[in-house]
Amino acid sequence: MRILLVEDEATLSGQIRASLAEAGYAVDLAADGLDAWHLGSQEPYDAVILDLGLPRLDGLSVLRRWRAERLNLPVLILTARDSWTEKVEGIDAGADDYLAKPFRMEELQARIRALIRRSHGMPAPELSCGPVLMNPRAGTVSVNGAAVVLTAHEFKVLDYLMHHPGVIVSKTTLTEHIYAQDFDRDSNTIEVFVGRLRRKLGVDVIETVRGQGYRLRPPPAA
Ligand code: CA
Repeated sequence: MRILLVEDEATLSGQIRASLAEAGYAVDLAADGLDAWHLGSQEPYDAVILDLGLPRLDGLSVLRRWRAERLNLPVLILTARDSWTEKVEGIDAGADDYLAKPFRMEELQARIRALIRRSHGMPAPELSCGPVLMNPRAGTVSVNGAAVVLTAHEFKVLDYLMHHPGVIVSKTTLTEHIYAQDFDRDSNTIEVFVGRLRRKLGVDVIETVRGQGYRLRPPPAA
């Protein structure tokens, strides 16, 4: 999952970025509103963390522009501690959630997990597809109840597929969602990760749709 982090305070953005990266997210950073607006309009983010007080273009204006463009990506705004007006304005501008500064990284992580889940219509905190069960918070995966150990990249690929069960996902899309913008991307590595996932999860779990991509097999209809 790939996140756009919009924050102009370098210390805070560094902390948030490190925390998100450790949790397995690919993170792009924008330090002003105009950069944020352009990136959010062009890149396929799974969620955005948006500070409101920003140079060049304020966060509320960025959010209103995205929503006017019919961009429906999930957005969590960072508000000043005691400003209820910011929260109200932010939600009315199209924010999906908010968090008041200062906050704990654990709370930000929990809200981002929930935001991404809900944007895929998944209310339960654990993701399941057939025999595969994933706990995004703990970073654990099991198959038929037996724990499976995945590398960080294998987890990222599976995490994206688990949020899109039954959907054909191209290698390009997977590449775009597991690497940050400044990463030297190579979509061939996706084949390697999928091959390893099949060995660990079972060959039938991820289907190759020739010329189109991969599909996590939905459980057989009862
Ligand atoms: Ca700020």
